[in-house]
Amino acid sequence: MQPKKLGSTSGPSRASLAAVLSLDSIRSLRGSLITLRRRCGKPTCHCAKGAPHATPALSFSENGKTRILTLTPAELPTVRRALSHYHKAQAQTGKDAERGLRLLRRYLARARQA
Ligand SMILES: [Zn+2]
Repeated sequence: MQPKKLGSTSGPSRASLAAVLSLDSIRSLRGSLITLRRRCGKPTCHCAKGAPHATPALSFSENGKTRILTLTPAELPTVRRALSHYHKAQAQTGKDAERGLRLLRRYLARARQA
């Protein structure tokens, strides 16, 4: 078998992937929601004088680099839910580990005095 090249065009297109991969299958995400603000440069655009364009995005770090994925407003609820899921899961894992320490301490105290 040939190793798959990065950036190969033989794979499914982004559109066809989107059709089979539902946003609902994204359960957990790490990162922060941010808002990118920019002026597009068109002199007649409202942003030339008024507020810049605002685009929601997910910022996260990967291999030590900050990455940004821009989002549509429709994608926001899923991303918010998945971020919240991750934070709750992290908190629960922390609680489980604290409980583990308490139990280990209790166990060892009992085992050592016997
Ligand atoms: Zn503009």
